[in-house]
Amino acid sequence: MNEYDSNRIFDTVKEIGFTQTNNIDEANCYLLNTCHIRDKAKEKVYHEIGRVKKNFRLKNKPLVIVAGCVAQAENEEMLKREPYIDLVIGPQAYHKINNKIEEYLNKQKRLDETEFDAISKFKYLGKIKNSSKKISSFLTIQEGCDKFCHFCVVPFTRGPEYSRPFRKIIQEAKILAENGVKEIILLGQNVNAYQNDNYRLSNLILEIEKIPEILRIRFTTSHPNDMTDDLIETYGISKKLMPLVHLPVQSGSDKILESMNRKHQVKDYINIYKKLKEINSAVKFSSDFIIGYPGEDEKDFKNTLDLIKEIEFINSYSFIFSSRPGTIASKLQLIDNRITSKRLEIIQQKLFDHQIKMNKSLENDIIDVLVENKMQKSSKFFGRSEYMTPVIFDGYEEDIGKIVKIKINKSNKNTLFGEIVKKSKLKVA
Ligand code: SF4
Repeated sequence: MNEYDSNRIFDTVKEIGFTQTNNIDEANCYLLNTCHIRDKAKEKVYHEIGRVKKNFRLKNKPLVIVAGCVAQAENEEMLKREPYIDLVIGPQAYHKINNKIEEYLNKQKRLDETEFDAISKFKYLGKIKNSSKKISSFLTIQEGCDKFCHFCVVPFTRGPEYSRPFRKIIQEAKILAENGVKEIILLGQNVNAYQNDNYRLSNLILEIEKIPEILRIRFTTSHPNDMTDDLIETYGISKKLMPLVHLPVQSGSDKILESMNRKHQVKDYINIYKKLKEINSAVKFSSDFIIGYPGEDEKDFKNTLDLIKEIEFINSYSFIFSSRPGTIASKLQLIDNRITSKRLEIIQQKLFDHQIKMNKSLENDIIDVLVENKMQKSSKFFGRSEYMTPVIFDGYEEDIGKIVKIKINKSNKNTLFGEIVKKSKLKVA
């Protein structure tokens, strides 16, 4: 989402004369768009500002702006601790950035703009043209969260759930298609909670699918409780919705899910998986796991391993629990680091085994790949499979933006390697 936000911020500040530079030591404005999900996010911001300060020791000070969720969560402390920061702006206030920059330049008074104002933000962002020209582009449809999982800061940094108007999203998807975009990844902290008038995520997918230039549609990140039947059925009828379902489960233990306030049980998750598989056997799952959540014992950990075995996730993110200030989980007793590190190692090995097995199974197969670009330091091309796996292959410039058939010759944990199959070599059914 930060990549999407950064591009919209750039589309906005362009209007008051800013341009992008690759020569970062000559920039007259730095904007750090920050994420609060991972540990040490705050310290990374101060470290980066320290680097800018050092580079500009003998030059005019650039305008320094900190945006994003760290700015939202740490606004007052940031301005107090680091006098080099001029402007702090939260994720629901981006639409005010031009006014705030001008206000700062006129008055030279440091500013904190962290109001939650998602409605005006999206009204404004709906009016600026999304200039993304990438083959695969993000499109934010929903922000914020009302679920309040006990470990998560999103409800505090992004605010309550807000869904953008259906027509505005379709309009933005059409602009992306005109720019040459072929794949749209619909984004939201709770993307499948999307609800605008009577439209849900399934309606959005089926409407975007009608845009002929758009070849693939994905969405992330979902909550199991919002995997409604209409969305599940979309996997059976949509021609463009990709079969990789990223559905975070976090733990395979009901006791831990309850303590996390996830509001669902393991059996609900397995049920969603079974329903999806029945509707579309090509569906495969990926997930997020928090390892060593306070209270996780050996039995809970084993339950998570069992779930991984049952679902055979093909790629997933797993992290040791780290507490975020202000959350309920931050008051709970941490588990010994040696135990959690060992558990993470075991889980990751299991997840990697599935990933390797999946990639290996594709060797000698011919698969569909959306070609994204020619690689910078090689004559090879880069694209992605239907399951998002990176594919590197010998190909042709004219195929960028197309779905081509690639014969897979080799694979490793993260990547598939192959060659383009000429149409004349494909067997006619
Ligand atoms: S549903 Fe997702 S975004 Fe919302 S509180 Fe839980 S983890 Fe955070």
